[in-house]
Amino acid sequence: MKMALQKIVAPVLGEIGYFTQAFPFFGGERRGAVVSGYLRFSTDKITTHSFITEPDISISFDERIPFDAVTAGLPAGKFLLLNTALPARYAQAAMDRKVYTLNAKDISVSHGIAKPEDPFPLINSAMAGAFFKLFEYITGRTVPDELTRRIFEGALPVKTDENFLAFSDAKRLVQPLAASETPGEYPVSLFRVTQPNGLCTKCRLCYIFCSKRAISLTDSEVHIINEAKCNLCGVCIKLCPRNAISFETSEREDTR
Ligand code: SF4
Ligand code: SF4
Repeated sequence: MKMALQKIVAPVLGEIGYFTQAFPFFGGERRGAVVSGYLRFSTDKITTHSFITEPDISISFDERIPFDAVTAGLPAGKFLLLNTALPARYAQAAMDRKVYTLNAKDISVSHGIAKPEDPFPLINSAMAGAFFKLFEYITGRTVPDELTRRIFEGALPVKTDENFLAFSDAKRLVQPLAASETPGEYPVSLFRVTQPNGLCTKCRLCYIFCSKRAISLTDSEVHIINEAKCNLCGVCIKLCPRNAISFETSEREDTR
């Protein structure tokens, strides 16, 4: 997210005449916390230096971030850009906001930037492409491909072509979601981290590095026992040398 904001989106906007402010916010935790990022852009000099509490566009890079957090402060009628493989589950949100969706992970995988098994795939280029589709729609301005390509060459010297293709694909593939598609109730995905499976060697890495103390340990077993404590940071999944833990998705009725 930080990469997309500060290395791609803000420099491109700067090149076409906007003043920009782009900054991430990491919260109080060292690791495992959700990271937010803010972008202001204007043709006039920006004198405000506060967090943005009522955005014109809210963007979610990851469905594991609670939906309420993604939409907090977003006024009715404004834009919501969501990375999701299952857009229909958000159709209700399109009743009062302009919702756009794309499957950024699939786009990144198709260009060799991410792997299907990545719990945190690199999707910065795809999300930047989707943002610029909205930007062009909202402002009526066109961002020249050659300009974006030049920014990519400076920001991403490795896999430049792949990233620029992911950017271009996302700009083409991001789609508005129609509220009329809403049949009433939609199932909402519930992500959770699985219990360590039979591959677990009880090495304790996950237990030691879980910042939320969501993993408990007994003499004979390692368990992820507390879903309420787990913030789905994925650290245990990344660290496990045996691939004994993974994300799983289940469906429940939306009660929001
Ligand atoms: S159990 Fe895993 S995903 Fe959940 S908070 Fe701990 S390290 Fe993060
Ligand atoms: S890191 Fe993997 S192998 Fe080690 S205790 Fe945790 S689940 Fe088991």
